[in-house]
Amino acid sequence: MRAFSYERPTSVADAVALLAEHGPDARVLAGGTDLVIRLRDGSASPTVVVDVKRIPELDPAIREVDGWLVIGATTVMTEIAADVRVRRRFTALAEAAAVVGSVQIRNRATLAGNLCNASPAADTAPALLTYAAQVVAAGPDGGRRIPIDELFVRSGVTTLRRGELVTSIELPLASPPVGSAHVRRTRRRGHDLASVTLACAVDASGVTRLAYGSVGPRPLLVVDDTGVLANPAAAESERAAILEHMFAEASPSPRSMRAGPDYRLAMLRVLGWRALATAIARLRDGRLAAGE
Ligand SMILES: Cc1cc2nc3c(=O)[nH]c(=O)nc-3n(C[C@H](O)[C@H](O)[C@H](O)COP(=O)(O)OP(=O)(O)OC[C@H]3O[C@@H](n4cnc5c(N)ncnc54)[C@H](O)[C@@H]3O)c2cc1C
Repeated sequence: MRAFSYERPTSVADAVALLAEHGPDARVLAGGTDLVIRLRDGSASPTVVVDVKRIPELDPAIREVDGWLVIGATTVMTEIAADVRVRRRFTALAEAAAVVGSVQIRNRATLAGNLCNASPAADTAPALLTYAAQVVAAGPDGGRRIPIDELFVRSGVTTLRRGELVTSIELPLASPPVGSAHVRRTRRRGHDLASVTLACAVDASGVTRLAYGSVGPRPLLVVDDTGVLANPAAAESERAAILEHMFAEASPSPRSMRAGPDYRLAMLRVLGWRALATAIARLRDGRLAAGE
């Protein structure tokens, strides 16, 4: 491991100043579950590590602000998986957070770190894409909101600019309620990144949002607004054709050690149907419970 200096700022402004000053030579440290491995294996060699865990503005408490459910940059997977509002309203995110790594990993790993690491296999990314979440970043030129679909470029690369720090991830509470589900396929039970990770959200107007990862350089979102996919009574061949079209952009790498492209594409279809059925059932159950 190369030597680096360790900074522990106590305000977002100080953290941003450090990141802006050192540019690509600086790395944010949140839970460290990705970064520390990369420091050890030498695939990241910053000269400055900026630990953001002692910044009071990055409050880990999940809170409701102006129609958004705000998840801070220091909120860890355990807290997200346990939060009643997330479980009820953003079920696929709770499910995704609950399968990241192990108990120990989930107690350290932040949602912000999962996104900023930009692994195509990041389990929380598909759920956030289906909910049209926004990433809030502070930078040298002030703050900005980034629609989650505009965050990912390719493995390890995001659209965050020099000096920018993610301060929160926000989920729209005002959008129509959805039934949603997250499913994934791993080589083995326990600690492994997904060979396919997928989330599906269906709303009462029949719009189906499907997002999937680990089958291309970045997680992808596709939307069906015909209402056909969300309708279990529609012809299966018609629904299958739509689903097939939604997977058209999947392009798994032939070089991955985790699973071959054919297997991943086959699993994508299996998981797609499975998540769709669960999301539809959850939407129906939620509407029945609400007396609709
Ligand atoms: C054993 C093991 C099992 C795992 N299993 C899974 C799994 O099943 N599914 C899965 O998706 N992931 C898994 N992971 C990966 C990892 O746990 C997640 O990606 C985690 O959420 C990263 O969060 P962190 O807080 O630890 O980030 P860190 O390691 O601290 O940071 C990750 C990256 O994001 C940047 N970053 C962090 N916070 C910010 C911020 N606020 N603003 C800007 N940049 C920031 C860092 O500079 C770094 O580049 C696993 C990791 C391990 C070690």
